[in-house]
Order: sequence, then structure tokens, then C-alpha cells
Amino acid sequence: MEKVFDAHIHHLLKVPMNRAVGILQREFEQTGTEGGCFLSVPHEAGPDGIVHTEHLQNLKMLFFKHVFGENHYAFAGLMHPSDYTDRKAIKKDFLRQAEEYLSVGFDGIKMLEGYPSLLKARGFGLDDEIFDDFYAFMEKNGHPIIIHFANPAENWDREKASPHAIMAGRVYDGTYPTKDEISAEVFRVLDKFPRLRLAAAHFGFFMGEKQNAERFLGAYPNTYFDITPGGEQFFKMLEDWEYWHGFLLRYRNRIFYGTDFYAFSDADEETWKTLFLRRPRLIRQFFETDTEHDYMGNPFRGVALEKPLRDRIYRENAKHFLNPRTPVDKAYLVREAERLTLVPNKESPFADEDLAFILDTLKA
Ligand SMILES: [Zn+2]
Repeated sequence: MEKVFDAHIHHLLKVPMNRAVGILQREFEQTGTEGGCFLSVPHEAGPDGIVHTEHLQNLKMLFFKHVFGENHYAFAGLMHPSDYTDRKAIKKDFLRQAEEYLSVGFDGIKMLEGYPSLLKARGFGLDDEIFDDFYAFMEKNGHPIIIHFANPAENWDREKASPHAIMAGRVYDGTYPTKDEISAEVFRVLDKFPRLRLAAAHFGFFMGEKQNAERFLGAYPNTYFDITPGGEQFFKMLEDWEYWHGFLLRYRNRIFYGTDFYAFSDADEETWKTLFLRRPRLIRQFFETDTEHDYMGNPFRGVALEKPLRDRIYRENAKHFLNPRTPVDKAYLVREAERLTLVPNKESPFADEDLAFILDTLKA
């Protein structure tokens, strides 16, 4: 099996950390994943507009990096306050957080701030000046950001949205910013900070938008796409494969592999396999074969990408996007775990159990 470096790994499912480590290990082995980036997502919002905070996210990602070691990286998420009245103080704090995270072993920042439900709940965009000192710091020091913005275009159209998106409440009416508005925010950020080292997760959801895809990589020197599947975007490339093949060739240094990997519960072996193999298998069938396959009821034919291009996407390009791996500050991990132990009412599932496991492992 060809080896891959998965730049898009999360831990958000209800699996305690002491099990997650072993599960991830087995999932990595079975998918040929030889390294990757653990991405922190400390805040999420549903259609009810309530923002949830998972206090342990940053700690967990840095802990994974420490445990898995060589070839593994961690991206922190900015912790937001529940109230944005003191904008000056928050702006300063975003910068302070970034400086802290990048000095203790995180390799970059993951932004979910462009997610439609979070944009709506918070009422300000990615180009709000509240982020400016943070962006300026990241740009000046060449620190990487992986950003999720928008979602598949179909999610703005109830007629076309997938049943899964509708069920999950990811269908957007006029109370949400439009997809174009969100893209415009991203381009304004890049126009202001053009040398930002910025990777758009899920291809920026631009697989159906040639002009935007072209502008995102073509107009700025340090931008990247991760190819993490989302909303079956891969099939949009098939509608004009000649164009997209040319695109992948033209930007052959700027596109890298990711799958939205998780430690799935292994309570049931069959379900576990189906879930963790789903996206890695789609990517491999798509890029490595020229035969017919089915992805969740969608038939498609693989494109059999040339091997040298696949090598870049699978492993090499993420390394250009990332800076040399920094060591994890173990004392910081211990301090953070001890601090979080004292925080009351944490929303994280298994918070106390996870903190105990992390401290035990670190002190062993
Ligand atoms: Zn993700």
C-alpha cells in the first residue's frame, strides 16, 4: 500500500483518550498512514446558534503529537470568549494564544472560524480586524494555518442538499452568510496578508468553482488545498476531469492529502472498519485506479493519477506546507492538564478520565 501523510485528523467522537490512542494506531496501520496533523476544534455551533466549547481539544491534540512522535504534528485552535464586548482585549488575546501555542510544540493553527454556523452565531467574519494581529503574526513568522471555510454549495439549497446535511442541520437559509460572502472574506484576508501560509481544508469547497480555485492558489504564494473529501466534491472534478487534471498538475506542489480521520469506536468491528476506511478508500480508489466504484450510493470511475503526482499529494507537499517539526514541551502539557482538572463544568466527554490518563502517561 502506498504510504500517506494525513494532514487532517480530529478527535471529536465519544471515545476516551486511553482507547483512542490504540484505535488510531490500528487505523493508521490499516490505511498506510505514516504521519499526520492532529487538528484541534475547540468550538462548534449547531443550527440552534449555541456555541459549544470542548476545553480539552488543544491539550488532546498536543498530547497525541507527543505520543505518536516523529512525523506527527499538532494544530491548536483559538479559544474564544463567550462575550465579544471587549474587542481590544480579545484581539490581543488571540495573538497571545498563537504565540503561546507556537512556542510549546504546536506546529500551526487550525481555524474552524469560517464554518457557517459559527459565523452566524458570532456575527463577525474571517476578515474582522479582531483577527488582524493574529494573522500578522502568523504571516510574519511563516506559521501555517489550516482553515475550514464555508461548506458544499448544495448546503445553501434545500432542494439539492444531501439527506445527511439536512439531518445534521447543515442547510443554510438567509440568516447565514452565503457561500460567496464567506469566500470573499477569505480573499480579503489574503489581500491584506498575501504571504499568509494558508491551507484551505476540503479544497476550499472550490471543486465546483474553477475561478475561485484558480485565484486561491494562483494569486498568493503560500496557499494550499487539502483534498479531504466533503460533500462528494471529488465527483465534481469528474465533470471536467481534463481541466482539474491540468489544475492538479499546474499546482502540483500546493495540494495535499487529508481525510478527516477520527478514532472511531471499535465496539463493533464491522461498523468501525466501514467508518474509518470510508474516506481513505474513496481517495485511493479515485486516484489509484481506473475502474468503477461506489461511494455511499454514488458510482464513479477512478482517474489513475500519475504516480509522481500522487506521491506529492500523498506525502511530499504537506512537508513543504509545514515547518520543521518542533519538540513538544512536556512540562506545558502537564501544566495544562493540571489547570484543566480544576476547570468546572467541562463539556468534554470523559473530561476527568481523559485528564487522569494524560497526566498518568506523562508522569510515567
Ligand atoms: Zn475536519
